[in-house]
Amino acid sequence: MTVHPSLSARFNPPSPLQASRKMPPNERCWCGSGKKWKKCHKDRENQTKLPIGAYLAAMKAEMIAAGYCSHPLASAATCGDRIIRAHTVQKKGGIAAIAEDGHVISVKCGYEDIAKNDGEIIPRKLGVKDASTFNGFCSTHDDEMFKPIEVGKPILATDTAFLLSFRAIAYEVFSKQSAISSLYIQRDIDKGTPFEIQCVIQEHLHIYGAGLQRGLKDVTGWKAEYDVAFKSKNYDWFKFYGIVFSDILPVVGCGAFHPEFDFHGNPLQRISRGSGPFQHVAFNLTVLNGVSVMVFGWTQDIDGPATQFANSYRSLPDDQKADAAVRLAFEHIENIYFKPSWWNAISDDMREEAIRRIRTGTGLGGVERDRSCISNTSVKFASSAPIDEKCNY
Ligand SMILES: [Zn+2]
Ligand SMILES: [Zn+2]
Repeated sequence: MTVHPSLSARFNPPSPLQASRKMPPNERCWCGSGKKWKKCHKDRENQTKLPIGAYLAAMKAEMIAAGYCSHPLASAATCGDRIIRAHTVQKKGGIAAIAEDGHVISVKCGYEDIAKNDGEIIPRKLGVKDASTFNGFCSTHDDEMFKPIEVGKPILATDTAFLLSFRAIAYEVFSKQSAISSLYIQRDIDKGTPFEIQCVIQEHLHIYGAGLQRGLKDVTGWKAEYDVAFKSKNYDWFKFYGIVFSDILPVVGCGAFHPEFDFHGNPLQRISRGSGPFQHVAFNLTVLNGVSVMVFGWTQDIDGPATQFANSYRSLPDDQKADAAVRLAFEHIENIYFKPSWWNAISDDMREEAIRRIRTGTGLGGVERDRSCISNTSVKFASSAPIDEKCNY
């Protein structure tokens, strides 16, 4: 077993901003926007604050404008003529399998509305057409690349696990890039507030932005590895573990994360410590052929954090595996969706516990993750018997 170097490195938060009430007008502003102080935080308390909806609309527009094709062979010559809203969880079999009246409950919308809801994460209804989409593929490549997992009766094997994992990684690159490119909009959110509030808001964005930059560096590196594998059709270094459940769980989701603790609370790697490189796990909880499947995909050392993470999941008793999959989705993945009647029927305690786990995953406030982040608790979110297991490591 390889011990990751970050486990013995010190916690390394970004150095705090040096806020200042007064600065030379042409100097770069203390907030880190890159603008001159006279064009940024000078007189900010007297500047007109826009309604929160205007900021959210501007961020959404920025995200659409930032669209591009993530296909490994994307180019002007090979891409279709437009970037589409590509589904990260397949619409037909995955999202539709948990939808009711054409809707699901979206955690991602809860994240997007966080400013509107005074810092609360409140998952809300969303139409299946929009659920789990990102502007990350052109029409031609989205169809062509993901056909093997969208049509017919896909079998869980290395090539299908690769495609699911690739899409999770492509989504993470896109979402981090577009979050970074919309930071300048969020920096204006403190207009019309007193200096003390400006400091709190800008420091929060500073920590958030530093986390995004670190995350982007990692996911871009992982994506490059997947691109090489796809182009060479050599998946030897790609590892996966998949599990098939006996029925449909009330949650689907897709994304990638740094495994920091395993399911027993053992530390694997710490993202705010040392300077990497870090390992990832690409995660999919979706529905294939009418039953839920969960897939972990990863690369690099076969005895490193990702393999240890997968092994710790495999070592769980069978009757805890469905619950652990859902717990993990809450903790590490923002791009998740619930079956509406399930979310509305669970007890307030369960809903609170779900939100608590979802919230710790945001990294708000620069706090490190706790070792109990995905450990078992008395709250059970799901139960379903595993009926099959596939892996290639
Ligand atoms: Zn400023
Ligand atoms: Zn393309």
